[in-house]
Amino acid sequence: MTGAKVIAFANQKGGVAKTTTTLNLAAAFAEEGHRVLCVDMDPQGNLTMSQGIDPETLERSMFDVLVHDLPIVEIIEHCEIDVAVASIDLAGAEIAMSVKIGRERSLDKALRPIAELYDFICIDTPPSLGLLTVNALTAADKVIVPVQCEYLSMRGLAQLQNTLAMIRENLNPEVDILGILPTMVDTRTLHAKEAIEILEENFGDRVFGARIKKTVRFAEAPVKGMSVLKYDPNGQAADSYRRLAKEVLSNG
Ligand code: ADP
Ligand code: MG
Repeated sequence: MTGAKVIAFANQKGGVAKTTTTLNLAAAFAEEGHRVLCVDMDPQGNLTMSQGIDPETLERSMFDVLVHDLPIVEIIEHCEIDVAVASIDLAGAEIAMSVKIGRERSLDKALRPIAELYDFICIDTPPSLGLLTVNALTAADKVIVPVQCEYLSMRGLAQLQNTLAMIRENLNPEVDILGILPTMVDTRTLHAKEAIEILEENFGDRVFGARIKKTVRFAEAPVKGMSVLKYDPNGQAADSYRRLAKEVLSNG
């Protein structure tokens, strides 16, 4: 796709900071003057909620884009960051799409007409490797994999890599992991240090230099409908995502 660089945030494990990373990295790109869109591909709608929108009030959402080919501009809400919104109906999209020809490419197709309007499109994914995530990986140029450093699961990452290999072979030859992001790092524990060491042994320089530390700020900000960069602009949490943005931007 020409225009926007498309980044999917994926890890089939729940609670590893996919949504938090999608929003806050997007906010850090925006702070640098880039035009950014976030796409909520999770039926739980956490990204949508974290920008202060109640998914239950939405008449139309990513479901209509993926299943009925509604132009995505019609469901983009202009918040702190532009968000293509999701609600619980998206849970039915995998089945509704399963009879569609080109079902893996629905999101890719939906993003094409708006690719020139943005510099970055950040796609949040659900905690599974089903059709919604496959759509995200098919639309993406790069994948960022947040990994919670408390319960490190190498096996989960191998599964994600297998899925990516299949996507490369069949759908999107160029997609690759941009980096692995250690999240919820508790620097006081030996366990977190060990977890990062294991990550670095396995993934080398594909582990980002940025470390996202554990702090309650990340739980507080979404309640106010804000990124941490807006909620606590001078805090360490915001800075850690600014650092990640710099790494991604310097990666080309
Ligand atoms: P996922 O999208 O992978 O399920 P979330 O981004 O929703 O994960 O994060 C799961 C929970 O952990 C949320 O309540 C979020 O606010 C919290 N959280 C995310 N990052 C951190 C962090 N660095 N420190 C503490 N809590 C965090
Ligand atoms: Mg999430």
